[in-house]
Amino acid sequence: MATKHEETPMKRQYNLLKEKHKDCILFFRLGDFYEMFDEDARIAAQELDLTLTTRDRGKPKEEQTPMCGVPFHSAESYIGRLVNKGYKVALCEQMEDPAQAKGLVERDVTRIYTPGTLLETAMLKDRVNNYIACLYADGGKIGIASCDISTGCFFVTVCDDEAAAIADLGRMQPVEVLRGGKASRTEAFNDLLIKRLGCCVNEVPDENCNLNLGQTLLPNHFKKDLAALDLTGRPEGIIAGGVLLQALYDLQKNDLRQINELYYYSNNYYMELDLDSRRNLELTETLRSKEKRGSLLWVLDKTHTAMGGRMLRSWLERPLLETGLIDRRCRSVELLSTDPVLRGELIELFRAIPDLERITARTSAGLVNGRELQTLALGLRQLPAIIRLLDGQKTPLLEQIRDAIDPLTDCAEQIESTLLDEPPLTIRDGGMIRPGFSQEVDRLRDIMNGGKDTILAIENTEREKTGIRTLKVGYNRVFGYYIEVSKSFMDQVPAHYIRKQTLANNERYITPELKELEEQVLTAKDRVTALEYELFCQLREYIAQQTARLQETARMVATLDCLCSLAVVAAQNHYVRPTIDLSSTISIVDGRHPVVEQMLTDSLFVPNSTYLDTNEHQVAIITGPNMAGKSTYMRQVALIVLMAQIGSMVPARSATIGIVDRVFTRIGASDDLGSGQSTFMVEMTEVANILKHATSKSLLILDEIGRGTSTYDGMSIARAVLEYVASPKRLGAKALFATHYHELSVIEQELSNVKNFNIAVKKRDDKMIFLRKIVSGSTDDSYGIEVAKLAGIPEPVIKRARQILKELETQQPRPVREVAEEPDDQVSMLDLAGQKVTQELEKLALDTISPIEAMNFLYRLKNMLN
Ligand code: ATP
Repeated sequence: MATKHEETPMKRQYNLLKEKHKDCILFFRLGDFYEMFDEDARIAAQELDLTLTTRDRGKPKEEQTPMCGVPFHSAESYIGRLVNKGYKVALCEQMEDPAQAKGLVERDVTRIYTPGTLLETAMLKDRVNNYIACLYADGGKIGIASCDISTGCFFVTVCDDEAAAIADLGRMQPVEVLRGGKASRTEAFNDLLIKRLGCCVNEVPDENCNLNLGQTLLPNHFKKDLAALDLTGRPEGIIAGGVLLQALYDLQKNDLRQINELYYYSNNYYMELDLDSRRNLELTETLRSKEKRGSLLWVLDKTHTAMGGRMLRSWLERPLLETGLIDRRCRSVELLSTDPVLRGELIELFRAIPDLERITARTSAGLVNGRELQTLALGLRQLPAIIRLLDGQKTPLLEQIRDAIDPLTDCAEQIESTLLDEPPLTIRDGGMIRPGFSQEVDRLRDIMNGGKDTILAIENTEREKTGIRTLKVGYNRVFGYYIEVSKSFMDQVPAHYIRKQTLANNERYITPELKELEEQVLTAKDRVTALEYELFCQLREYIAQQTARLQETARMVATLDCLCSLAVVAAQNHYVRPTIDLSSTISIVDGRHPVVEQMLTDSLFVPNSTYLDTNEHQVAIITGPNMAGKSTYMRQVALIVLMAQIGSMVPARSATIGIVDRVFTRIGASDDLGSGQSTFMVEMTEVANILKHATSKSLLILDEIGRGTSTYDGMSIARAVLEYVASPKRLGAKALFATHYHELSVIEQELSNVKNFNIAVKKRDDKMIFLRKIVSGSTDDSYGIEVAKLAGIPEPVIKRARQILKELETQQPRPVREVAEEPDDQVSMLDLAGQKVTQELEKLALDTISPIEAMNFLYRLKNMLN
C-alpha cells in the first residue's frame, strides 16, 4: 500500500474530483458502495451514524485515511439525510463497466444534490414546492429568478425595492438561494434568508453576475428571444435568470429539459402580502405550532392530487387583483359546489392520478423507474373520463381546462404495452418488459428458461428439411445440444450434421445452429437484461419527449383539483359566492372566520357583519374586553377578502368585495428575540412598514398599536397612526383598528370617516358573558380584571387590582408602602369572623327560636365580630 505521499492512482483520481467539489461531500463509487474519505468520512460518519474505518491498518495513525461507505442501492436515503442537514453531496459514478475497463475505472461526478435541486420523491414534501432562487441586487431594481426543478417551473420577476423583494421571497420560501450583487447582502436580506427562512445561501461571485450570460443562456434554453420571454429592459431579471439556469446546469449535469417555460410575473399581478401579514393571518401554518392544522390552507385544501395541493397553496399565497381572473375561478367553483355528482366523479378520478409533474421531471432527468411509469400510465388513463365529465360544463375556465387536457393516450399505451403491470423497482436487472412487446426479449427469455420453444422450432424445421419423422433435439451435459436420428434414417442425414455420439439404435449429431443455441443459452441472461434496459430507455425517452404535453395537462388537472377542493369546502361549510368589483367597498353580511368556525367544538360561531368604504366608514375602531373576539373578527375580514380574491366562495350570508391591493396586519406582540429586537421595536418596525407601503386600496388590520411602551407614549402613537391612516391626504386606507385605549374613541367625533364599534359582553353578577357580537359605539370598560380572574390569577391579586383601578379612576393610587403597611391580616380576620357569623346564621332554626333566645343569639354574633 502506498504511503500518504505516494497516492494510489485511485486516491489520486478521488483527490482530483474532490478538489473540484470542495464544498460537497463526495460519494465516490467503488463497486457496490459509495465511499467517503478524509474529512467527508468524518462528517458523514457522525451525521449518519456510520462506522469510520480505514484501509491503512498497518500505518501510523496520522497516515491512515479515514473512510466510511454506504451500499449503492440505499445511497438515496443517506444523501437525503445529509442534504436535510444542510450539506451538499456530489455523486461520483463509474463511467464505464469495471469488467471492461483497462486499468483504473473512469469516474466522474454525475450530479450534485443540494436542498433546492432535489428530484427524489422521498426527499421532497409532496404538497409543497421546493424552490431554489437567485437574488440579484446591486443598488437599483432587484431581480429574482426561482425554479422548482422537481416540477419544472421557472419564474423571473423584477422588484422595485427591497421590501417588495423580501415579500416575494417570503411568499416563495425558497430552500436555497444564490445571491449576487452588493445590495443582496444587506441586513434585511440576511435577516430574511438566514434567520427567518433558514435557507441555504450561496454567494455568487460578482464576475458571474453578468448580463451576457443571461442574454445568451435564457433564449438558448427556452428557445425564445428576450422579448418573447418578457425580459426586454429587465437586466436584473436577466442576470438573476442566467445565474440560476447556469447553476442548475452545473448541479444537474443534464440538459434540464423539464424546465421548458419561463414565466415573467410582476408584483402588480397579485395581492401583495408581506411575510408578517402571511404569518399573522396563518395562511398555510399556525403562528405558534407551525402546523397546517388550524391554518386557512387546512380548511381549504381538499385536493386529491399532489400538484393540486401545491397549486392551491400557491393560490393562497398569491390572491389575484384582476376581477376577470377571479371571476373565472369563482364561477367554476360555484358550479362545482352546486353539482355534487360531477364533483364526486371528478374526485374519484383524481384519486388515481399520481404526481404527474414530478414523475415527468424525473423522467426527463432519467431517474424514473418502471413502477413509476406504470403509475403514470394509470393516471393518464383517467384523463379521457375527466374530459368527458367536463363536456358541456359551461364556464369559461372549465371549458378551457377541458380543451387543454391532452388525453395522452399514446403515452399510456406505450407504457402499458412495453412494461409489465408491476415492474420491479430497479431498471437494470431486467424482468420488466411485457411478453409480446419484443420478439427478441421473448426468445432470449425462452432460451434462458431451457429454450423449449426454440428447440421445438429447430426440431420441426430439421424434420421438414430432412424428412426424418423421428428426428429429435436433445441435451446432455457432455455434448450440450444434439440432434438424434434413429439408425434406420441414417441415409437421410444431411452432410453438414457432425456426428458426436453413437448409441445402440440412434446416432447423435451437432450442427453449427445448435452450437450457436448453446452459446446463446450461456449469455441469454446478460443479453436479455441489457436489451430490457435498452427498451426501457427508449420508452423513457419517448415519455421525456412529451414533457411539455404532460406538464400542461398536469397544470390543468391541478387547476381542476383546486376548483373542486374550493367547491367541496364551499358546499360543506355553506359559503356564498362574493361579488367582486373595483369599488372601494367591503361589505360582508354575517361573515364568519373560516378557521375558528371549524375549530369550535362546544359552541356555535357568532356571525358578524362588516361595512368599510372610503367615505364614512373607512376606519373602524374596535374596543372590547380581552377574549371578546376582536382579533377573530378582524382576521375574519382579512381572510374573507383574501378568499374572495383567490376565487373561493366565502363564509358569509353575502359579500361584496372591492379589490384590495394589499392586506397588512399588525397583530399581537410577537417577540423576535432571535433578531435581537425588543417587542416594541418589532411592533414599530411593522407599523413603519405598513405606513410606508399601504395605499388607499389596502386593507389594514391593526391590533393593539402602542402597547409595548408607557400608556401616554403608546396612546399618542396609536392616535397619530390612526389619524395618518384615516386621512385621505395621507393613506386613506380602509382599516380595522382594535385598541384597549378607549380614549381613542373620541376620534369618531372629530373625523367623519372613523366609526366606533365594540364587541358586546354582558356582566351578570361577577361573571362575564361574551356575546361575540360586534355593535356600534365604543365601550368604556376593558374588563381586563375580569378576564385576569377567568385566567386564574390569585384572588388577592385580583382584589388589589380592583382596588387600584378604583383609586386610579377617582384619584391617585395609594403608594405601595401605605398599602403594605396596612395590617395584612386585618381584612382576612374580618372575613373569617364574617364567615363564622354566616355559618351560625345558616344553622339557626328561625321557626322555633324564642324572642329571648333570639336576643342572646344576636348578642353572641355581635361579640364574634368584635
Ligand atoms: P385579546 O384582546 O385578548 O387578544 P380578542 O378580543 O382579540 O382578545 P379573540 O382572540 O379574537 O379575542 O377571541 C377569543 C376566542 O373567542 C377565540 O379563540 C374564539 O374561540 C372565540 N370567539 C371569537 N369570536 C367568536 C365568534 N364570533 N363566535 C364564537 N366564538 C368566538
